[in-house]
Amino acid sequence: MRVHEIHILLPGIPARSGRGFLGYCTIALLSSEEGWLLFDTGHYGDRSLLLDALAKESLSPADIRYVVLSHLHYDHCLNLPLFSEATVVLAKRELDYAKTVLTGRRTDHTIPEFVESLMKSRRVRLIHSELTLDSRISIFETPGHTPGCVALSFQGTARIVLCGDAIKNAWEFLRGVPDTVYGDISAARRSIERIKKRGTIFVPGHDRAFRIGAQGIEFLSQIEWSVTGDVYPREKDTEIFRLVT
Ligand SMILES: [Zn+2]
Repeated sequence: MRVHEIHILLPGIPARSGRGFLGYCTIALLSSEEGWLLFDTGHYGDRSLLLDALAKESLSPADIRYVVLSHLHYDHCLNLPLFSEATVVLAKRELDYAKTVLTGRRTDHTIPEFVESLMKSRRVRLIHSELTLDSRISIFETPGHTPGCVALSFQGTARIVLCGDAIKNAWEFLRGVPDTVYGDISAARRSIERIKKRGTIFVPGHDRAFRIGAQGIEFLSQIEWSVTGDVYPREKDTEIFRLVT
């Protein structure tokens, strides 16, 4: 599905389960002046769907020029190895944060223990505060959810911000504070304010794209998400749950 020039390859799902965090983040594709750019990669559970979504755009992973990682939580970065030709773009502060977790100085169970090997032998472009990639794309730090979170602003036919987990869902946008803060809570609030000033359309890390209209949040893309299971004695592949919104 498309929001102006942004292709939402896999939509973020704002849901948890009784068995824990699902980690279905927004994965977005856009065209930079130097080639295709992917914003976040999802995790292993997304891998075949992501490849299918790229194929539908007549793209293979080798066609991706940049992979921007909003942060290093596993649900955003585990498919990075698919894009071995791409330059990885992330904040220097996020790499430093991951190191503090790996060395036991901080606790964050969603940073993969092998995050350094994901980066090994890769072309990496580090963001210090803000990186202007081209005339339409800028990537800027939005600390709070993690100390080195980034968001991407795109100025095309609309001013769109891919928020990463600085804003995971519409509730966080409205409340002005994220639910999960591994960084600093005041910084998290300021990051949400900064994002609000940078766009008119917002694509959260785990929710549908929206804009603010006269009635409040107006969603611009959809979620169609279902859960099926092989739960004997029900039929195989029985639909257990469906969300269409
Ligand atoms: Zn996260």
